[in-house]
Amino acid sequence: MKRLCLIYQPAVVEHSFGAGHPLLQERLPRYLAKLREDGLIDHAGIEVVDPPDAVGEDEILAVHDRSLLERIKELSARGGLLDGDTPVPVGTYERARLQAGGLLYGAKSIMEGQYDRAVQMLAFGGHHAMRRHQHITFGFCYFNQEAIVIKALQSQGYLQRALIMDCDCHHGNGIQDIFYADPSVLYISLHQDPRTLYPGWMGHADEVGEGAGRGYNVNVPLPPGTQTQSYMRVLEQIFPPLAREFAPQLILAIINGDTHFADPLTDMGIDLSCYSRIARLISEVSEEVCGGRLVVELGGGYDLGVAVNGSCKVTAELVGYEGYEVDDPYGIPGPEPAHITQRVEKLLEERKATLSRYWKVFRA
Ligand SMILES: [Zn+2]
Repeated sequence: MKRLCLIYQPAVVEHSFGAGHPLLQERLPRYLAKLREDGLIDHAGIEVVDPPDAVGEDEILAVHDRSLLERIKELSARGGLLDGDTPVPVGTYERARLQAGGLLYGAKSIMEGQYDRAVQMLAFGGHHAMRRHQHITFGFCYFNQEAIVIKALQSQGYLQRALIMDCDCHHGNGIQDIFYADPSVLYISLHQDPRTLYPGWMGHADEVGEGAGRGYNVNVPLPPGTQTQSYMRVLEQIFPPLAREFAPQLILAIINGDTHFADPLTDMGIDLSCYSRIARLISEVSEEVCGGRLVVELGGGYDLGVAVNGSCKVTAELVGYEGYEVDDPYGIPGPEPAHITQRVEKLLEERKATLSRYWKVFRA
């Protein structure tokens, strides 16, 4: 069994976007309660930890423009809106620094060998937060905590290379923006085609990175309706070969419930069984390429049952808890239409052809 650090910070968990907002605060307490009810906390080598240290301004400014930091700080003092979708309730600035500090604690503990894995369910996101505020929406995110953590680990000498495997249904435009010219971070994102979903203006297949970072930004925009078999086929064909060649020292994965077919905000087609498969594959690859050092963020997912049950399934895989099952009232959607399967297959071949310009492993 793996030693898993489960980051749960009550001061962050209380963050609420307010009544009627799709990102539900109840996900977090329900996730922890279900893990306890199902016996995972007591029997599976999971330790629930409440790290008290927030990231500092310097760590935020290693990633973001000062104007964004000041804007969030100022809104947070009185309450306000970062954009129409992203309220900033009083105390957000402190909670955002604390949530990033929690993730950083988990990652450092792994690098120091105290735990094998770390997992954090997010009260609010990070991957849409771009370097600076450009008067575009932030998609329920404040600071890009994924980038803050990786930059902090690099500057403190914990690692040189990190791989981010983003399985959220939305493209992580903020992560792409921040690391676009940086070959020390390989960003791979499988997401619903941005022509059909937020953020829309980024996440296309031809965005491969720039300068020294060319080839280190890998977008796989999947057609709406892509189901488990096709999703896993793409993940299995793209992620492990790149991870082997890149040889990161840590993998940070984002695995969210919004790729499920029942999610009310998106149009992908995977079912609950896929969450176990995604987590198992990423765990196995982490064992192979970086000594099992894996940090997982859970969070998005706008159907409460999917967000909680899918996250519990992922957590069970991270510790290697055998035979864990959850109720699945959703079942599986009807068969994947042939035109979607064909489009995914074509996309996969095109992606491999493009990647072969930068990665030896795809030059057959
Ligand atoms: Zn999402």
